[in-house]
Amino acid sequence: MALPVPPDASGSPCLLERGRVEALVRSHLTRNGRYLDMVQKYGSPLYFVDEAALADRARQFRAAFESQLQAVRCFYAVKSNNHPFLAKTLLGMGFGLDVSSGIELEGALALGATDILFSGPGKTASELALAAQHHERVTVLMDSFGELERLEREAAKRGLQVRAGVRLMSDERGLWRKFGIPLHDLYAFWEAASRCSHVTLCGLQFHASWNLNPGNQMAFIARLGQTLSAFEQEVLSRIEFVDIGGGYWPAQGEWLHPADEANRSHPLETSASQRPPVHLPAVPIEQFAEKIGRALQEHLYPHLTCAIYLEPGRWVCHDAMHILLRVVDKKERELVITDAGTNTVGWERYETDYFPVINLSRPSLEEVPCLILGSLCTPHDVWGYRYFGGAIEPNDVLLVPSQGAYTYSLRQRFIKPLPRVVIAKGSTIIAWDDVPWEGSAGDTVLQ
Ligand SMILES: *Cc1c(COP(=O)(O)O)cnc(C)c1O
Repeated sequence: MALPVPPDASGSPCLLERGRVEALVRSHLTRNGRYLDMVQKYGSPLYFVDEAALADRARQFRAAFESQLQAVRCFYAVKSNNHPFLAKTLLGMGFGLDVSSGIELEGALALGATDILFSGPGKTASELALAAQHHERVTVLMDSFGELERLEREAAKRGLQVRAGVRLMSDERGLWRKFGIPLHDLYAFWEAASRCSHVTLCGLQFHASWNLNPGNQMAFIARLGQTLSAFEQEVLSRIEFVDIGGGYWPAQGEWLHPADEANRSHPLETSASQRPPVHLPAVPIEQFAEKIGRALQEHLYPHLTCAIYLEPGRWVCHDAMHILLRVVDKKERELVITDAGTNTVGWERYETDYFPVINLSRPSLEEVPCLILGSLCTPHDVWGYRYFGGAIEPNDVLLVPSQGAYTYSLRQRFIKPLPRVVIAKGSTIIAWDDVPWEGSAGDTVLQ
């Protein structure tokens, strides 16, 4: 059987067009007064959550897939941004939650989620017991034969029946083998599960990360269809859902510093700031949905009638959080130190990834070379190699947009205090720690 070819040429790097960056900068400069007021009122640095952007992305994501597929259910991957406000907002929009640890599961239960997927390798006996105790709200996506045994044991001890799926290895090479079982073991797994009377196996899951286009997902759906074509009807009729995971790259694509700028041995080369960033284009979510829909039509639906579960993380939260910070010190014409360090995001993101640094205090569409560094006692503490602005001076307020995914969840208590979280809900701005019943309970809930 021929496997689908990845669609068009997206994914090959090109220079990042100025117009793309300027459009993003302009969209934030129009709200510049609001951001400055926020820093005035709540201080700096801040994580700023934009509820409207989150809701907008969630609606667009779901609509894209609902227009292509019959029965679709979306589960927000909590690990991509574990602030409880995001999970709570998405629950309110009818999303379920995808959790990948006992801590995340406790958080989801505390938020009142009634439709929870529990994924991830190496779930411990106590994590499985917690899932079993909440079997009316949790579906366990089992990762191995051993985990099937452990889940059966925990459920049997308590006389409970647990709804479950099994994760399939989407790539049998290297480090990705840690996830799920290989496709060629699926039939044996099904037989093993049928001997476990406290586990109801009724679904399949796979997840391929970091996709600029739907090629990976389409290829795996084709392989899955081929595997299922050998299964008898009796088994197929028990498959209620196929969970196709997350891994959708936002439509802006990936923005990177040119390769040698990412070289960790010379992170502070000023010459690097002269060279324009690189763009890896991504396809719009509608195109993911259309192509994945077609692959399901061709390879899966001939064998199965099932719901499709989706687990977006990055795609829905990327644009829902921005970071606000201030310049503390200007040491040279093109070197400033800010009041926030990369402990805010938990990794040295901006040595490889490019995002505009926007000087809200001196708005301009001019981008100027300058090292924008954090205040941690390590040179690997870089926000950017240039800024948008007329000039840059101590006390200026800077914005780094679209930091919603895989930053807040990875924040570190390292050297400097962590920023406060401030949320825009319609025209109201609230500081999360000012909402007593949410701030205190919520903050411990999903960390
Ligand atoms: C991380 C993860 C996701 C979300 O991935 P994104 O790239 O953020 O969309 C979904 N499902 C599983 C099982 C994951 O581990």
